[in-house]
Amino acid sequence: MDLVDPFGRTIRDLRISVTDRCNFRCTYCMPAEGMVWLPRSEVLTFEEFERLARIFVERYEVDGLRLTGGEPTVRAHLPVLVDKLAQLRVPESSKSPYAGKKPDLSITTNGATFRLVAHELKDAGLDRVNISLDTLNAERFLEMTRRDELHRVLDGIEAAKEAGFAPVKINAVVQRGINDDEIVDLARFGRDHDVEIRFIEFMPLDADGGWGRSQVVSQDEIVAAISAEFPLELLPARGAAPADRWRYLDGKGTVGVIPTVTKPFCGDCDRVRLTAEGDLRTCLFATREFDLRAMLRAGADDDAVAAEIERAVGTKWAGHQINQVNFIRPKKSMSQIGG
Ligand code: SAM
Repeated sequence: MDLVDPFGRTIRDLRISVTDRCNFRCTYCMPAEGMVWLPRSEVLTFEEFERLARIFVERYEVDGLRLTGGEPTVRAHLPVLVDKLAQLRVPESSKSPYAGKKPDLSITTNGATFRLVAHELKDAGLDRVNISLDTLNAERFLEMTRRDELHRVLDGIEAAKEAGFAPVKINAVVQRGINDDEIVDLARFGRDHDVEIRFIEFMPLDADGGWGRSQVVSQDEIVAAISAEFPLELLPARGAAPADRWRYLDGKGTVGVIPTVTKPFCGDCDRVRLTAEGDLRTCLFATREFDLRAMLRAGADDDAVAAEIERAVGTKWAGHQINQVNFIRPKKSMSQIGG
């Protein structure tokens, strides 16, 4: 059966944060020091993730699972989890294009150690990879991520392509005065390396609480910068996908922008998120979570867990409040929620 929220949106996509830990300390996401990791006992086991994912896929016909974090590749034996998720089947009776098949399995990663797991993840059934890359300048990369690993991320992108992932997409968060002078360079990189760059508007989910509207580079500005160099044509509406997409008029691929702040796309949102400790969130910016781990560990059966999932989805907002005066920042940062 479909899992439908109070505004008629059907949930099709579950983001699973497999760990809150990360090997980077991106300034727009985490503090330099002092991140307190969840104790291991509080993080869901693979069996617990699988059980919850099974309810979403096999009961509610969710046909997309994206693994994220923290940095998902720092979770040991990640291919084992992917293998378990690849055994799930969207019901035959579903209207989904994945009816009778495994759900679409994807990952968002910083790519730094992707070469080490690329083939194993592919073999386990992972379908798609998004790699985060905000700058092509090694010094700036060190400033933005607090790690000197640009070369490893670039290698991770190559490793993803070599392992046969297609498409490989690149996520680039744009911050005014930090990396907005690289929009065209990143677009050129995407064109030259046959990867789709998706520029992301900076969101108020940084751990340091330093977000300010003036640091947000809008979708309109991003598209204007790119099209001045490489003429673009808008592609048809995105549906539930977060990125608006354009094609280069010279045929060299596509580019996307995720305009969460200046052009929210909540009306089409089909996502819910499971944090590493098993809390269900119905929006990145939600201020309320539903503790599924407590239920699993107290011995709740699938019907009871499903009822809690439905209760949570019943609270999904019409839209986030970033642009309203009463916006309350979530207590958790992006790395703790799972971006
Ligand atoms: N570690 C993985 C990675 O780097 O892709 C997955 C987790 S990370 C939190 C997921 C995505 O969220 C990344 O593309 C990252 O750039 C983005 N992100 C983190 N903080 C953000 C913020 N304040 N605004 C916009 N995007 C953000």
